Amino acid sequence: HSKNTGKNQVRFYDEELEQSERRRHQLEDELSQAITNEEFLLYYQPQVDAEGTNILKAEVLLRWQHPKHGIVNPDEFIPHLEEYGLIIPVGKWILEESCRQLKVWHNAGKSELCLSINVSANQFKHPDFIEFIEICLIKHQINGEQIELELTEGVAIHDIPSTIRKMDRLQELGIRIALDDFGTGYSSLSYLKHLPINTLKIDQSFVQGLPHDGYDAAIVETTMVMAHHLGLTVVAEGVENRVQLAFLKKQQCHLYQGFLFSQPLNVDHFSKLIL
Ligand code: C2E
Ligand code: MG
Ligand code: MG
Ligand code: MG
Repeated sequence: HSKNTGKNQVRFYDEELEQSERRRHQLEDELSQAITNEEFLLYYQPQVDAEGTNILKAEVLLRWQHPKHGIVNPDEFIPHLEEYGLIIPVGKWILEESCRQLKVWHNAGKSELCLSINVSANQFKHPDFIEFIEICLIKHQINGEQIELELTEGVAIHDIPSTIRKMDRLQELGIRIALDDFGTGYSSLSYLKHLPINTLKIDQSFVQGLPHDGYDAAIVETTMVMAHHLGLTVVAEGVENRVQLAFLKKQQCHLYQGFLFSQPLNVDHFSKLIL
């Protein structure tokens, strides 16, 4: 009797495995289709100064307009794009579309606007990455100074010297480099010491508990002091309320991004906001 159950369990397990395999293939197909059918789109979230008046920079955030499920957020599909190697073509599209749209806004009169673009580690490691950006800037007549790339610690895990070389080349083009999700990794401070970084993005997990959480307050305060000493620009992520803003202002944070000022907006809504 017990032998029989065992056999059934094995068969059941096989079916489950088969089903999850099938789901994986289906997702891979859907994501490839999404590229061909142009289902990806970009949202833009303002980064404002302490006065919150003039929007000079925005972060570009990827969305998937799924034919059945509507707008899907990147945490749900970017890990799969990475898994299937699709982040390379999608990443190229993001850079290209960001530059194209930025030029449209420049031509419409918002000539000071900069965009901050997320780049995944695999994208950054790709041998064509720098060349692709150079071509993209020339094609859309964008100055390097008008874009910033948001990288996470993951970029340098394997090869610090080649990471530094690439970052130096980006800086020669005038492109600024932001360290995203600052403080959440294992070696944030070591990265700061070794890599040519211009901007720190304080992760929203440290902004959340301000000003009452003693750890968040201490971490943010210390990061701000350090950034000022090192001449780095600081962007606070996930600013949702006035007490958080007040605390950050007191620490002389440079730029603020969060729902208090604006959600990420589609191109029409962002255009209405800035033009
Ligand atoms: P991230 O780069 O750290 O982006 C900030 C995330 O915080 C965004 O989530 C944004 O919508 C969200 N956010 C902004 N303000 C607030 C706030 O006040 N409160 C809260 N709770 N959240 C806020 P989103 O758009 O879902 O993106 C999630 C992550 O997906 C990004 O984190 C980034 O790591 C990745 N991602 C997004 N777009 C791209 C892209 O174009 N390329 C790559 N490689 N990764 C991307
Ligand atoms: Mg980011
Ligand atoms: Mg972040
Ligand atoms: Mg994040």
